[in-house]
Amino acid sequence: MKGYGGRILFVDVTRGTSRVEALGEETARALLGGNGLAARLLLDHVPAGVDPYDAANAVVFAVGPVTDTTVPGNSRACVASKSPLTGLFFDSTFGGRWPATMKRTGFDALVITGQAPGPVYLKVGEAGVEVKPADSLWGKTTRDTVHAIQSVEGAETDVMAIGPAGERRVRFACLATYWKNREGVAGRGGIGAVLGAKRVKAVVVTGGLKTGIADPAALRALLDEKREPLTTGTKALSTYGTSFLVKPINTLGALGAYNLRQETFAEALAISGEEMHARYHARDTTCLKCPVACGKQYEIRDGELSGLKAKMPEYETIFAFGSMLGNAHAGSLAKANDLCDLLGMDTITMGVTLSFVAEALERGWLTPDEIGVPFGWGDWRGMLRLVEMTAAREGFGDRLAEGAWRLAESVHPEATKTVYAVKRLELPAHSARALKGMSIGYATATRGGSHQDTRPTPQYAQGYDRRGTDGKPEFAIRSQHFTAVDDSLVLCRFTSERGFGLFVEEPYARMVRAITGWDMSVEELERVGERVINLERLFNVREGVRREDDTLPWRVMHEPIPDGPSAGMHCPPEELSAMLDRYYALRGWDTDGVPTKARLSTLGLA
Ligand code: SF4
Repeated sequence: MKGYGGRILFVDVTRGTSRVEALGEETARALLGGNGLAARLLLDHVPAGVDPYDAANAVVFAVGPVTDTTVPGNSRACVASKSPLTGLFFDSTFGGRWPATMKRTGFDALVITGQAPGPVYLKVGEAGVEVKPADSLWGKTTRDTVHAIQSVEGAETDVMAIGPAGERRVRFACLATYWKNREGVAGRGGIGAVLGAKRVKAVVVTGGLKTGIADPAALRALLDEKREPLTTGTKALSTYGTSFLVKPINTLGALGAYNLRQETFAEALAISGEEMHARYHARDTTCLKCPVACGKQYEIRDGELSGLKAKMPEYETIFAFGSMLGNAHAGSLAKANDLCDLLGMDTITMGVTLSFVAEALERGWLTPDEIGVPFGWGDWRGMLRLVEMTAAREGFGDRLAEGAWRLAESVHPEATKTVYAVKRLELPAHSARALKGMSIGYATATRGGSHQDTRPTPQYAQGYDRRGTDGKPEFAIRSQHFTAVDDSLVLCRFTSERGFGLFVEEPYARMVRAITGWDMSVEELERVGERVINLERLFNVREGVRREDDTLPWRVMHEPIPDGPSAGMHCPPEELSAMLDRYYALRGWDTDGVPTKARLSTLGLA
């Protein structure tokens, strides 16, 4: 098969054994790879109802036909598991060099099950896997772990590691890889904690196999055609990184602030990409073979954090630690981001959980004594201390490590009404009130509060009706099919959306045809997206998800935006209910949100 290694590697870390299965062409064509393959593998291999920390849960790493080709943004992989935060299917993609190196091992997917008797790391090469002791790495940060392993295994290896947060089962623990200071962080939803429960500190990849391309000339022609739109479309990303979004989204009245009590932030300029770029930019960083270089390395040159060299906080992180906390101290955003990356935690969940705490303190649901350190709106020093305490599960950090929803349940009967989360996953910085496509998008997302299921990008375009509900269920479905295909290819969202299109369209079909040689139509590719979404839904339905779970934060449904250009917008329950009716009908699901046999049969899943 062109575009594939054609093998799946299964590792049981309890016994230290492994086996290899062939990846058949029929499966590859039906699911592509990455997200699609991971959904199939988790549905088949993780028993229903299993605790995410049980040895029987699996962590899947998967690449796709686009990985390690010449397509810009090709060094991308998917990691997936049953989430300890949501209890549901969870997948996440990441860049750097690790994904291309995994493809060169000749394995399209790696499935890790079991629980090792002591800390280990896995070294995956062309010949299979070695399970190696990692006692000396336990307790180390993600970056120190990566460097320590590379010093033993060689600089050409790539390492994806958990930090102390994953070891301590923080429910939103992540994994991180480092390549030439380009960090790739993945696994919000707590995949780092699942690996920690398995006592797997890191996954190391090394290999030299080349990805075969069926029609290199056709692929070259497609890339030549898309070079200019890609360059133009990614200009702001190349210059500032995702932080360029702060100003326009604040201007739209869609930048959540003060735990979503507002959707404008008076001090947004101070934490905007333009301002931080001018003050802190040191250099650009990029994933392997990507011309966009959206990563920025900052150097803090003023104030008490002066001297800090750290990655630029992404837009979502600026929202979570900045506007949501009423915090305009730009340097502290870089520091909080750095701490989360090193300790291995998701910045969105961490920041949004802290914004809940700030409001809970104000309402008297929590007391300063319980928190143990000075903290409140805009208190960035307390914020940084609480980040460290969370990773260590120290003092109040032990409760923060459970995420906003579980924390709220423990403080007051009314408190979950103020949590910005869907399916217990905290929402990112694309408003569920000001963008009606995100309202239905978040409610129906497999992961809950994720902007990588339904995409906000098309909804910011000039002329897009972000206020009305007309056509929004249709939009969410098309967008979800696109993200499922994109994450199955696996391709970077930025290069794909800006270079090849916002939905499943002809350029993607051309890409798949050129790489694999299959006669893939746009219609067939769209059905791949639908198949992947249905597999994820089947996983979640098996865990008990039904219509009542496809909901929105209380505040989004009951409190209109009070300020700014989007004032008055929200998504009342009856409006959401009408959109859900239409969404389920279009999907061929029953009125409770369960896929029907008829639709599953059409997709080859029954
Ligand atoms: S656009 Fe950014 S995230 Fe995507 S591949 Fe390029 S450098 Fe990596």
